[in-house]
Amino acid sequence: MRRNPKFGWPVLALGLALLTPSLFAADLVNRAEPDWWLTPRRMIQTNLREIDAAMDVEAYVASLKAAGANVVLFNVGGIVANYPTDLPYQYRNPFMKGDLTGEVVKRLHAEGIRVIARFDFSKVNERIAREHPDWLTRQRNDQSIAPYNGQVATCLNGWYQQEGMLKILGEVLDHYPIDGVFFNMIGYPRSDYSDRPIGVCQCDNCRSRFREMFGLELPLNDQANTEPVRKYAEFKSRTISDQFTKVNRLVKGRNPHLAICTYTAAGVDIIRKESNTALDTWMYEESFRTRMTLLENPGKQQANAAVHFPHYPHRLASVSPDLTRKRLFQCMVSGGWLDFYCIGPFYSQEDRLGLDQVADVFRFHAANERWLASTVPLPDVGLVVDQAEKSAELRGLMRILSQAHVSYDLVSLARSDLGKLPTLILPITEPMTPTALQQLDTYVNNGGRLLLTGGPVTSALKCLGLRATRSTLPSEKGTYFRLQPEDKARLKAAVFEKLDLLPLNGEVWTAEIGNDVESLLRFIPPAMFGPPEKCYYTNVSDIPGLYLRSSARGLVAWIPWRVGSHFEELGHAGHAALVTSALDQLLQAPRRVRVEAPALVEVTHRVDSAGRFEWVSLYNHSGQMDRVLTAPVALRDLRVQIRPRSPVKNVRLLQAGKPLSLAAAAEGAMGCVVPLLNAYEIVLFEY
Ligand SMILES: [Zn+2]
Repeated sequence: MRRNPKFGWPVLALGLALLTPSLFAADLVNRAEPDWWLTPRRMIQTNLREIDAAMDVEAYVASLKAAGANVVLFNVGGIVANYPTDLPYQYRNPFMKGDLTGEVVKRLHAEGIRVIARFDFSKVNERIAREHPDWLTRQRNDQSIAPYNGQVATCLNGWYQQEGMLKILGEVLDHYPIDGVFFNMIGYPRSDYSDRPIGVCQCDNCRSRFREMFGLELPLNDQANTEPVRKYAEFKSRTISDQFTKVNRLVKGRNPHLAICTYTAAGVDIIRKESNTALDTWMYEESFRTRMTLLENPGKQQANAAVHFPHYPHRLASVSPDLTRKRLFQCMVSGGWLDFYCIGPFYSQEDRLGLDQVADVFRFHAANERWLASTVPLPDVGLVVDQAEKSAELRGLMRILSQAHVSYDLVSLARSDLGKLPTLILPITEPMTPTALQQLDTYVNNGGRLLLTGGPVTSALKCLGLRATRSTLPSEKGTYFRLQPEDKARLKAAVFEKLDLLPLNGEVWTAEIGNDVESLLRFIPPAMFGPPEKCYYTNVSDIPGLYLRSSARGLVAWIPWRVGSHFEELGHAGHAALVTSALDQLLQAPRRVRVEAPALVEVTHRVDSAGRFEWVSLYNHSGQMDRVLTAPVALRDLRVQIRPRSPVKNVRLLQAGKPLSLAAAAEGAMGCVVPLLNAYEIVLFEY
């Protein structure tokens, strides 16, 4: 076939088109859809090896379609070009015959599947590296990083990543109607695939750019506690942001409806994350991660890859299928994309464990898109993450709420509409700002219910009614809180019938309180804990472990120690019950949803943004064996009760595909019974 001297694509495409009638199939992707990425999508990344250029494209597309994907992340350029590039500094795939990218984009588009083009500019082929030593990452000895399987690390500040990258992107955008771009390994990698560390790049470009920015010499490593090292962190983040601003300008200049996807946020539409460990790290990880990403990045989307393989050395093997399903489901019901990533084509995996689960969740999403694509959270409790982030306190509180089936969402005082939240839980780790104090006072005065945990809290928070701050009791071994009979009468939890004290393992903030502040629990100073003959205490103080005050309309409770961290550390039922009793009994927190199910069922409550329906999702975590996930045990007869936003016409199960009967309950609530919960279910209430 004759090659066009400037660019081979048109001649090549014509030739292929004559041979393959399906290439004339209509393009079913609407490339003018604004912000298409904000609607949750189902993406499969088949990270192709160079040998996969010889794959059966028909089978490739058919397998992705059958799995329910509507976006494919496809390798286009950078380390290996899967198209006939004319740029001398891009390594054309030697296994490719014709134009793999052109053929795949056309065929996927004919099926209505969008294509995000994957690029990796972090390395170049060693032949190119030899010709352009100034593009490479340099070590302290001025040597470049040794080639890794023939690929040499480039530096973000060299010409290749600064200019060459834009030329490669431009070439691809000129020739293919892709829907987005994705960049792998951006920035300054810290190690290679074999975990060998890569130090601070010492190339001339890094040196001069660092000197220009800060007037300092580039540090030799990023470990020391020096001014240049502190500035180096800023250097990395600023240079990465600058790079994506440039990419954004180029890509959006071609078509504003092209999505930009990578692992950072600046200049990016879809923030990529990865769940990429062999075993589970935390049962609520993807629920937390998705909510946190969407909270911190309004107007952006998250694609969190459920990675098929357990770690780099075994990229052809799989993690537990139940772990993959959990990862996908938690992203789905938290408003993010479904995203699965494997090495090589989906249809030719040698370890196929988990692929059925991927297709199952993807097809479920595809079949129920109208119920899943346009929802917003409907939390009964807003859990404020501004200070706590992913601390033990926050994780413990999430675990307590989740196990008690309290519907919650992660919120921010600065970004969230507090007026929509009937109850707030705020874990405190540092003094609150005047703005935050004002917001909380207004929130409570407007009828909100507020639960504070930890400290410090001062009299500056007016709604709590403290007169003065007193000393903070240090963390001491052998301390407890006494549960007095009157505390149990107020808290009402059944577990307190068997508890007269609660273990304490941290600091306690104390205060002088006003007459209208109720106090519960009493601090027990360090008790002896050995030998057994001496394991008793002799004194109960009058220092409270919980405060409560009702103001004009709202209510505020303060647990002046880190109750969430305690539950995370000790798993004691009393700590969990203290939080749920504070919500239910002391704050009388209204609940729109109540679920009677084992603690291992995770509940999410969301509502249609157009006001046509709401749903409650149930995920069955009962297959957990430490960090290994196995098939869940089927659960039966779970009761779900909601106080709907509008009258409900019918209720049905989206997974089982069956209608349920709905019974009226007290105070405008409606209830139904889910007869069987296998791995997951969504109970849909249509208005
Ligand atoms: Zn450099």
